[in-house]
Amino acid sequence: MADKVANQLQDYKAGPKKDQGVATTGHGVPVETKDATMTLGARGPVLMQDVVFTEEIAHFDRERIPERVVHAKGAGAFGYFEVTHDISKYSAAKVFAGIGKRTPIAVRFSTVGGESGSADTVRDPRGFAVKFYSEDGIWDLVGNNTPIFFIRDPILFPSFIHTQKRNPATHCKDANMFWDFISLRPETTHQVMFLFSDRGIPDGYRHMNGYGSHTFKLVNADGKWVYCKFHYKTDQIKNMDVNKAAELSGSDPDYSIRDLYNAIANGKFPVWNFSIQVMTAEQAASCPFNPFDLTKIWSHTEYPLIPVGRMVLDRNPTNYFADVEQIAFSPAHMIPGIEPSPDKMLQGRLFSYGDTHRHRLGANYLQIPVNCPFAVRNYQRDGPQCMSNQGGAPNYHPNSFDGPNECPRAKSLATTVNASGDIKRHDTGNDDNFSQPRVFYQKVLDEAARTRLINNLAGHLKDAADFIQARTVSNFGQVDQSFGKRLAEALQSQKKMSASL
Ligand code: NDP
Repeated sequence: MADKVANQLQDYKAGPKKDQGVATTGHGVPVETKDATMTLGARGPVLMQDVVFTEEIAHFDRERIPERVVHAKGAGAFGYFEVTHDISKYSAAKVFAGIGKRTPIAVRFSTVGGESGSADTVRDPRGFAVKFYSEDGIWDLVGNNTPIFFIRDPILFPSFIHTQKRNPATHCKDANMFWDFISLRPETTHQVMFLFSDRGIPDGYRHMNGYGSHTFKLVNADGKWVYCKFHYKTDQIKNMDVNKAAELSGSDPDYSIRDLYNAIANGKFPVWNFSIQVMTAEQAASCPFNPFDLTKIWSHTEYPLIPVGRMVLDRNPTNYFADVEQIAFSPAHMIPGIEPSPDKMLQGRLFSYGDTHRHRLGANYLQIPVNCPFAVRNYQRDGPQCMSNQGGAPNYHPNSFDGPNECPRAKSLATTVNASGDIKRHDTGNDDNFSQPRVFYQKVLDEAARTRLINNLAGHLKDAADFIQARTVSNFGQVDQSFGKRLAEALQSQKKMSASL
């Protein structure tokens, strides 16, 4: 495969002829000399009146925006979603309207815990966020490469992420922080087992599955609705050997970004098959587990995958900052025909994503072209970096002067939810943390995969304090007794090995 990443500048030069024009200042004035400051005499000092220099350096000083607090390192690409199967009986969302219909998409893949310069081949979940540019506006499916997550209550999220990042005193990663939290909150067990299994280090971004993870609702043209899960599966799962991953962390920390860019530039467009699982309200009411719990999957046997379409990525970004660093996904961006479920983690994310974008990119982040290329009509006005302030249109509603009004179709698709319950802080820490991990351990993994899982866990857990190791082993023992026993043995032998080095 040609290394298009290495040759990007030559390819740019050889590409379509550009209207070069002359270099200008930010306010469009032609620059007389580009590579010398204006000085008093050949040896300086530099004059305050060199506004070309002061403008350039002042802009440079402000080049960085805050990196994402999670998912900071990522790669992006563009393509389309194509409907291959009719699911109009489940959803009237425009993206699903008619076999053959294509909707443009943007995708961002990422690691989670590392900073923007960190290595791509670390053991970490991968973000897999998809932006659908539908006729009804933006739908963001902000998923991961796993169908579940570590926690089920969003109030734990800041603490959980702190434990995956750096120790506040040493600024180093800290196995005690990591395993202390994991073992104190055993709802993490299922996702930790996925993380330390083979799929914990995918071979780049092209060979991994994606999942919307949360439970959502689909609403059809008659206003009837079902709960649903979204799956986007690659044709070919490919994981990376742990030793190769460790080597690449040093020799090619941008492995996954490079792989995706080169594949698309060379015409090897990655494809995912998109499907849904559905559950009726009656099924949800009698489900033996909480179907809105993000630490749990819905069994494929009971809730089979229903094919919907495919996603193809066929275009690289032309400018990383504009197209990838500034792309802003939010689970709150839903379109008529798709709604949230009561999933607590989803409810927390509905707030958190927009909040973080307003911090990173400003109140008008949706006016950045990659985030919303549509002519938006609403009553929001002004704010920093406002690019589209809707001219003389009225800025209040209701009004008598042709301002935009409500959409009857959207109204007909909005469901009414009857709910009652006790308002209190319901702690779900002990809400069946081990049944599904047990199925994963006993039925999904074969013996060789179980051994690799145990060795991967021991190799990381051995750096935590003894009492934390003991608590962690005890949790995995609740998944399967022999799992706990084998983990304890693997820990002993890995500790012996480390001591003898
Ligand atoms: P199935 O046998 O139908 O599905 C098992 C699933 O496990 C498949 O989707 C398979 O993905 C996936 N899988 C295989 N190896 C790994 C791994 N190392 N890490 C993560 N996932 C893996 O059974 P059920 O639907 O009844 O689920 C049984 C168990 O499988 C669950 O308890 C859960 O732990 C796990 N699982 C279930 C998923 C679901 O949505 N139902 C999704 C992922 C995992 P593939 O088909 O791509 O090979």
